[in-house]
Amino acid sequence: MSENCIFCKIIKGDIPSMKVYEDDSTLAFMDIGKDVDGHIVVIPKKHVKNILDCDNDTLTKLMANIKKISEHLTNDCGYNGINLLNNSGECAGQAVPHFHFHIIPRKTDDGVDCWPKFTGAKSTIEEIHNKIKMI
Ligand code: AMP
Ligand code: ZN
Repeated sequence: MSENCIFCKIIKGDIPSMKVYEDDSTLAFMDIGKDVDGHIVVIPKKHVKNILDCDNDTLTKLMANIKKISEHLTNDCGYNGINLLNNSGECAGQAVPHFHFHIIPRKTDDGVDCWPKFTGAKSTIEEIHNKIKMI
């Protein structure tokens, strides 16, 4: 629990939310952004900032629940797929500093574009590969 964290306040019930799923480790609720139909935010109940400081146990439970919610959306709610999005770090566009994934439920031909408008590569693929490869 972190004092001034909006999502911790949602977990506590101090800020209302439209819950989609909840268990001991995870909460999922409707995103209030009104940017796309069905936008869901999925968070661990443990306050961690993002994937970079998230322990594997928390991450494993979160991902298992994301799969459960995604299966519900596609098996029971008439959706055909989902986009799963995460911003980790301010430089990556993270606005709320409590780890979360965005689930965007998708229907065939819904016209939604969830892929970022990239600006074009500035380096060669080989240059970046040499810098980041782990093997
Ligand atoms: P991000 O930019 O990845 O940090 O996304 C933060 C998301 O949280 C945005 O999509 C916001 O619309 C959403 N959000 C912020 N406050 C609330 C809230 N009180 N209830 C539901 N969603 C929220
Ligand atoms: Zn928090």
